[in-house]
Amino acid sequence: MYNIPLYDLNFGSAEEDAVLETLRSRWVSSGPKTAEFEKNFSEMFEVKYALAVANCTVALHLALIVNDLVKDDEIIVPSLTFVATVNAVRYIGAKPVFCDVVSCENPTIDLDEAEKLITSKTKAIIVMHYGGYACDMQKALELQRKYGVKIIEDACHGPLSEYKGSKLGSIGAAGCFSFFANKNISTGEGGMLITNDEKIYQRAKLLRSHGMTTLSYDRAQGHSTNYDVVALGFNYRLDDIRSSIGIVQLKKLRCDIDKRIAIRGLYNDALRNIPGIIIPFLNYSEYSSTYIYPIILGKSLAGKRDALRVFLGEKGIQTSVHYPAVHRFSIYQDAKKGKLDKTEYISDNLITLPMYSSISEETVKFISQTICDFINA
Ligand SMILES: *Cc1c(COP(=O)(O)O)cnc(C)c1O
Repeated sequence: MYNIPLYDLNFGSAEEDAVLETLRSRWVSSGPKTAEFEKNFSEMFEVKYALAVANCTVALHLALIVNDLVKDDEIIVPSLTFVATVNAVRYIGAKPVFCDVVSCENPTIDLDEAEKLITSKTKAIIVMHYGGYACDMQKALELQRKYGVKIIEDACHGPLSEYKGSKLGSIGAAGCFSFFANKNISTGEGGMLITNDEKIYQRAKLLRSHGMTTLSYDRAQGHSTNYDVVALGFNYRLDDIRSSIGIVQLKKLRCDIDKRIAIRGLYNDALRNIPGIIIPFLNYSEYSSTYIYPIILGKSLAGKRDALRVFLGEKGIQTSVHYPAVHRFSIYQDAKKGKLDKTEYISDNLITLPMYSSISEETVKFISQTICDFINA
């Protein structure tokens, strides 16, 4: 076990009380708590519709289906992302086309490169707001206007992050969030699809629950007694036990992020003057969820990443890599790819350091000092 974990849950008695209340209510599947979670989420994210789902992977799957993306369409994706972003493309029989990132300083998808990858078959771009820092959404929307491609936002890293005053996830055709244990909001498993488009919302809602026209909860309330099945749907629902945790987590989110921002400042001060260490988004000025704290080893330290991770591990510090490049995985060997030099460099030289709201100043200093010790040794 590591003394200093990569991530720690921000759970307390309020989450425990919420779960107990839901258990005692005897309605544990999707019902009033899920509806309340959705309502609170849509208000906080300043978006018309929020649909709670089982996880972000299925939110992405639904987002692609309801945006009319189909077999053999080409969909441009980053490779520096979690594999689920790309797997969702394959679920519908569409073809991922991997696109590079801008730079070490800005490891989000390079939308100028993406434009060069657009063909007559390209129907969408999935952007991923790496670390909670926005992609160039102005350029993304320009590509949407110019080529008619849909912009889907994998906003898992960026709850409450902003781009020119708009919340990430609310700018494209649909935005997808995850509530996996290590995300800003944790419900164990869970996800949310947000959109301002009523048609997209209604279709996604239908497909979330088997394509059935009424829900168990409506029938239990006596609102209806029967149902029709009008589309080939799925069971992608979120249950009320998890939603009741989500309601509490949502209330804590802003304060949790503000603490993360302060912690990021401590890391930045300790690491910004170390030669060979690049801190992505160092001069970023908009509000960010500050989901993770990645650093990238520059040319003078290139190739030393794994040794540094072992060194930190021996001192009890857990680290991670966000991410192993998706285009290098076995199942994506035959996929279409642009140039991916920057993605490969970052994937080989990036370390994600511990980041959570309760981490102490001493701990941040210890981690930073340990990195210095490694470099000076
Ligand atoms: C966590 C994550 C996902 C997957 O979310 P799940 O809820 O685990 O399905 C997808 N994309 C990104 C960028 C993520 O960080």
